[in-house]
Amino acid sequence: MLSRKSSDIQLSALENAMQQFDEAAERLNIDKTMLEILKQPRRSVIVKLPIQMDDGRFEVFTGYRVQHSITRGPAKGGIRYHPDVNLDEVSALAAWMTWKCAVVGIPFGGAKGGITCDPTKMSQGELERLTRRYTADLMDVLGPELDVLAPDVNTNAQTMAWVMDTFSMHARHTVTSAVTGKPIELGGSLGRREATGRGVLISIREACKHKNIELKNARCVVQGFGNVGSVAADLLYQDGARVIAVCDVYGGLYNPDGINIPELLKFVMKTGKTVGFDGAEAMDSKEVLWLECDVLVPAALENVIKSSNANDIKAAIVAEGANGPTTTAADKILKSRGIFVIPDILCNSGGVMVSYFEWVQDRIGYFWTEDEVNRRLETIMVKAFSDVLGVSLEYKCNMRVAAFMLAIMKVMKVTMLRGVYA
Ligand code: NAD
Repeated sequence: MLSRKSSDIQLSALENAMQQFDEAAERLNIDKTMLEILKQPRRSVIVKLPIQMDDGRFEVFTGYRVQHSITRGPAKGGIRYHPDVNLDEVSALAAWMTWKCAVVGIPFGGAKGGITCDPTKMSQGELERLTRRYTADLMDVLGPELDVLAPDVNTNAQTMAWVMDTFSMHARHTVTSAVTGKPIELGGSLGRREATGRGVLISIREACKHKNIELKNARCVVQGFGNVGSVAADLLYQDGARVIAVCDVYGGLYNPDGINIPELLKFVMKTGKTVGFDGAEAMDSKEVLWLECDVLVPAALENVIKSSNANDIKAAIVAEGANGPTTTAADKILKSRGIFVIPDILCNSGGVMVSYFEWVQDRIGYFWTEDEVNRRLETIMVKAFSDVLGVSLEYKCNMRVAAFMLAIMKVMKVTMLRGVYA
């Protein structure tokens, strides 16, 4: 059910996703039945997963898979391991996947999965058993033509290798296209690991052009230093931007002259944290969000920028690397303050784009060079940005409403062409 996650009366991720949908749908004048068809998830599965822990005990975990839409193609979406995972959050993330795939024109529907667990307290063996049991339990609803998994928070290429192997053992043959974000040796795509961060960079470049901001030397702040945040920070650094602050769940770092990101990456590879890096001063991880900067990249979790703190944001551009980092109330405040927000369903779509390329390459059995992957990614990303900006200027709405309008129109068109089988 819908939940209040903090005393600050913030909406849950699902309430946010629904409000974003409603705001765009209202402008499109869609009839009520079509609205319900487009809005509700098509299928939600909850599984109980008994796992033997290393000390011999059994623990039962709860896993979710929500397939929001399969109208434009197989469902597609990541799987997240986190103590806060719940049906509400997974449903919101699944819906965002539908709109993300549609807005950038990838022939997939939207899905998301998750397991409520704390992977920081689990061994590799326990995580492997959990992943395999989750996959086996969902075998009937997964697969290259049905629903294709990918990594998300606290899951990675190794997790995908376990999913792929378990799926293949049950299918009795190797099915590399059952998941994306796999290790390269198992049919992964070159450029996939960096794809989300690269897409974030491309959309920041386009936004800077639109706002007449020079990216070289621009002050950037990155919240979250995992797959998305660390790659975005590295590519911003390579483009000559000054990454003045970063943070992860353990703490933040600040250096007004710009942090040496390649050195920080080496440090994080060794220690697993940004904390303790001597090329910057320590800072509270929340404080980094309020720093004055040209570009702020929230790349951790949802509901970070809320009505209670949106007035403290001092960035010209907010590039949403994470899914759902800004609540709808905060969005309005940012808009009124003239802050340009690149919405998540556009900004972080590079990951699913290259996941699509990986699925294509697996199915044809022919693999592209990294340059080819990056070139195709850039072409699609630049076009999607320009399409969304065009709608936003035409309808005088912010980029999020414009992205949702475009996405909803595309899914609605296909729904009407297919008709309703009843
Ligand atoms: P990840 O697990 O690799 O990294 C998450 C990072 O956020 C870590 O550095 C973690 O320490 C940090 N973090 C967590 N809680 C924090 C907090 N309270 N304050 C500061 N930092 C915090 O995850 P990821 O794959 O980089 O995903 C990050 C976000 O991007 C998620 O919202 C995810 O849904 C979204 N996303 C990921 C991809 C992808 O390809 N991985 C694609 C699209 C969107």
